[in-house]
Amino acid sequence: MTDPTFALELKNISHTYGDLRAVDNVSLHIDAGELVCLLGPSGCGKSTILRVAAGLEQLQRGQAKMAGGVVADGANGLSVPPEQRGVGLVFQDFALFPHLSVAGNVAFGLGHLPPAARSLRVAEVLAQVDMGDYAAAYPHALSGGQQQRVALARALAPKPEVLLLDEPFSGLDARLREQIREDTLHVLKRSGTATLMVTHDPEEAMFMADRIYLMDAGRVVQSGSPDMLYRRPVSAFVAHFFTALNEWRGPVVDAHVASPFGRLPTPGLADGVVAQILIRPESLRVVPPGESTSAGQIVAGRLDEIRFLGSVRLLTVTLGAEGPQLRIRHSGRFLPEIGGQILIHLDPLDALIFATGDEVPSLHHRESGKSSVLSGS
Ligand code: ADP
Repeated sequence: MTDPTFALELKNISHTYGDLRAVDNVSLHIDAGELVCLLGPSGCGKSTILRVAAGLEQLQRGQAKMAGGVVADGANGLSVPPEQRGVGLVFQDFALFPHLSVAGNVAFGLGHLPPAARSLRVAEVLAQVDMGDYAAAYPHALSGGQQQRVALARALAPKPEVLLLDEPFSGLDARLREQIREDTLHVLKRSGTATLMVTHDPEEAMFMADRIYLMDAGRVVQSGSPDMLYRRPVSAFVAHFFTALNEWRGPVVDAHVASPFGRLPTPGLADGVVAQILIRPESLRVVPPGESTSAGQIVAGRLDEIRFLGSVRLLTVTLGAEGPQLRIRHSGRFLPEIGGQILIHLDPLDALIFATGDEVPSLHHRESGKSSVLSGS
């Protein structure tokens, strides 16, 4: 059965370069009007998937479909050429033609239109990206952000079925990037173009995407809404990918694992396996003095360090006499002096708990939160 709402569907795609399996049995789909991000560390196969979808890379195994039908099939070697697939491309370096004006660049893919219609479409799409005043300018005279907008306009001009963006903001400096990605999101949503965007930046993916496919070593490890991946990661890898985490390990005993915040339930984990407890710095809350808290777990610690991160502060707190240490993202007002006592609250539902797959330890070595590391990026 074909699904008439999808704009692009990749089924069981695998791709090797020599002995290297760069993409391993990946399936994904993008619905009409959807913005989907392929997210993952460098080298996990994201760009290869994008190039296979575009037809720039010959599909080896699996099948690629667009709304109009199959565009590539590894079983019979079918491969519709890139220019006939109805895809628009934007790359990291924007790849504008230096010898053509902005209008010339945008008109490039519109050769099939009569001149009057072509000019109209160029003006329309340049207005969409707010570059109407620069039609006669040449790429070298434009800022990075303006070049990015022209690249987007050029890709959108022929009204592609699917837009493919490969790290489209990584060539821009940090301040500009935030603004440009917000502008780009609005342009894409207004145009309603189904989009597949490759990025290694989790914040960017969460900001832009309706859905994310998170990849590791050629495979999709989880897909879903940004909120779903952030709040309900299926593995420690997924949890680590989005933020640095407070982390402990300990054996599962009677369906619970010991932590500095008391025993936490470990649904789905068998007794005896080693559990990994991951807690996001923003899941820990500083309890103001006098607050009567009943639900959840509260522990006392010593405030060791405060780092300012704009609207929030990153606290380092030591529990007990000599550890473990916690990292806490704190946005409230109340804070004791450095070296003073601080109460920390955890809602047990915010503890992310996974099996480590490690050897079953002797229960004599049962850890009760003696060690803690802040791991991840
Ligand atoms: P990503 O976009 O996630 O950084 P890529 O799809 O570019 O990953 O690459 C996946 C893996 O395939 C990497 O190990 C990369 O070095 C390798 N690779 C990519 N393109 C080629 C190529 N043309 N020839 C050989 N190896 C390649």
